[in-house]
Amino acid sequence: MSGVNDIRSTFLDFFKNNGHEVVPSSPLVPHNDPTLMFTNAGMVQFKNVFTGIEQRPYSMATTSQKCVRAGGKHNDLDNVGYTARHHTFFEMLGNFSFGDYFKEQAISLAWELITKEFGLPKEKLLVTVFHEDEEAFNFWRKIAGLPEERIIRIATSDNFWSMGDTGPCGPCSEIFYDHGDHIWGGPPGSPEEDGDRFVEIWNLVFMQYEQISADLREDLPRPSIDTGMGLERVAAVLQGKHDNYDTDLFRRLISASVDLMGVKAEGEQRASHRVIADHLRSSAFLIADGVLPSNEGRGYVLRRIMRRAMRHAELLGAREPVIYKLLPVLINEMGRAYPVLTRAEALISETLKLEEGRFRKTLDRGLTLLDTASADLKEGDSLDGETAFKLYDTYGFPLDLTQDALRNRGIHVDLSGFQDAMRRQKEEARAHWAGSGDKAAEKVWFELSEQHEATEFLGYETEKAEAVTL
Ligand code: ATP
Ligand code: MG
Ligand code: MG
Ligand code: MG
Repeated sequence: MSGVNDIRSTFLDFFKNNGHEVVPSSPLVPHNDPTLMFTNAGMVQFKNVFTGIEQRPYSMATTSQKCVRAGGKHNDLDNVGYTARHHTFFEMLGNFSFGDYFKEQAISLAWELITKEFGLPKEKLLVTVFHEDEEAFNFWRKIAGLPEERIIRIATSDNFWSMGDTGPCGPCSEIFYDHGDHIWGGPPGSPEEDGDRFVEIWNLVFMQYEQISADLREDLPRPSIDTGMGLERVAAVLQGKHDNYDTDLFRRLISASVDLMGVKAEGEQRASHRVIADHLRSSAFLIADGVLPSNEGRGYVLRRIMRRAMRHAELLGAREPVIYKLLPVLINEMGRAYPVLTRAEALISETLKLEEGRFRKTLDRGLTLLDTASADLKEGDSLDGETAFKLYDTYGFPLDLTQDALRNRGIHVDLSGFQDAMRRQKEEARAHWAGSGDKAAEKVWFELSEQHEATEFLGYETEKAEAVTL
């Protein structure tokens, strides 16, 4: 049985032995792409290498990349605690070919790694290909010897990757593991595919075209490979667990959380411990990479993650800052692979403690208000936008925290009512502004403050800014 640290090094060593350069993870704040909230895939640091803008002294690379998916196009925040396979922070293992090997070798390396190095049984594996990609279909037949019914043709954009409206693009092929029929879920392409029975472990992207304009696509002279495998998901498979949160690293984090809170990870409390373990990781790694909680942009996404964890700690009975006390356990688990975490320990600890202290002041009163306002609501009802806005504005509850708090009861938040309340407040502020007498300056002030608030919601709404993902 291999631990997460061994699985990571087995992957990197395998590709190193096959001629790949082992490249360190890039930071979570992408330095080469201001439009992207956080690094959310292994290819992000190589974006300019794929397009040819940047040259590297190697044509094949392998990485274990820190990723955060808690905003924009890939937002998995709401899934965490409730699915077996999603995290806000995870590690993506990848191998890359920059105009070197292509489809046949990518499939052959992937198959060798998972069936020989990792020893996964062939009968548990199935793959998808893009419906027009006969080549990939035939390589899977030839190399893996998979029967035709376990090579599923998919016609949706799930199996066609593109970097943006223009630039490199191509079909992809995803590898799934079947955890068995005791778990709900169907194979990819079926109506039940969102279940947790068939879990996607690896995505192979075949960059073979260049999109020149909306209706012009050309063959790339030297096609490339980009792959991403979720370390936590493959660890679950290799450790005979169905659930990422039952793997060695998460078990140790969760058991520390159980000891600290004195509440078992069972029943309704299970999700809370999972949320705390997951959000501790994303918060710690984001702070280590220089993000601090704030009211806009990246800092606001971090604040949302931290406050969501804090509400779950409160659900488990915490009445004073506690999450920072779990940090040494995380550093013990991951500090060797990511020394940046160890170096930033004091900063992370202090930031967690401060934010918890700050939020504690209003958390209880906010929750009391929420309880009162939602007491008479039933499943399918909505909480009025006015209350959600008051929680946001006066008590510091990010919108998704309020949504998460009502989720178990099947209650939604009236989003347009929330936006209305926010707009009204701005108008009132404007009307009541006694003013300095300088109309031009006032206009600038209000415009600036409105722009500033608009950015707070980037994390919920920005879709187009995040085209650059696997
Ligand atoms: P899913 O369909 O399960 O949400 P995805 O298709 O969005 O996954 P990709 O963008 O293809 O995922 O990312 C490559 C790999 O990274 C996936 O095959 C999976 O193993 C892993 N992965 C993606 N999102 C997460 C997440 N939120 N938590 C953990 N692992 C993830
Ligand atoms: Mg996804
Ligand atoms: Mg998928
Ligand atoms: Mg995928």
